[in-house]
Amino acid sequence: MEENKYICPKCGTEMIAVYEKPALNLTCPKCGCKIATTKWEDIDLDDTDYKIVLKSLAHPSMDQVKLISNLTGQNFIASKRLLENGGVLLSAKAIEIREKKKLLNENDVDFSISPEFPY
Ligand SMILES: [Zn+2]
Repeated sequence: MEENKYICPKCGTEMIAVYEKPALNLTCPKCGCKIATTKWEDIDLDDTDYKIVLKSLAHPSMDQVKLISNLTGQNFIASKRLLENGGVLLSAKAIEIREKKKLLNENDVDFSISPEFPY
């Protein structure tokens, strides 16, 4: 993908971008105009609703049930049943899905995400 170009709002000269995470500092080489902005990652702008679908797990551990209970706000029995039967855990935007995905991986819970999750 081509690098974005930033044009000085005062004089129209192409600005020099210095990326200091998470800020993007722009300086105009001609008139010295400075702009600081935040650089967004693709995931921040992703407006897709992703769904985490659990695969059925015959004998979920206590920790796994606790995790599901935390994520869904459901009680122990409902969480255990969801793990055993599999099914939709939750749907959310990309940023939230990325966090949950990490937790599920840490606890060896098998799941899939639809649509395909690119992060
Ligand atoms: Zn300028």
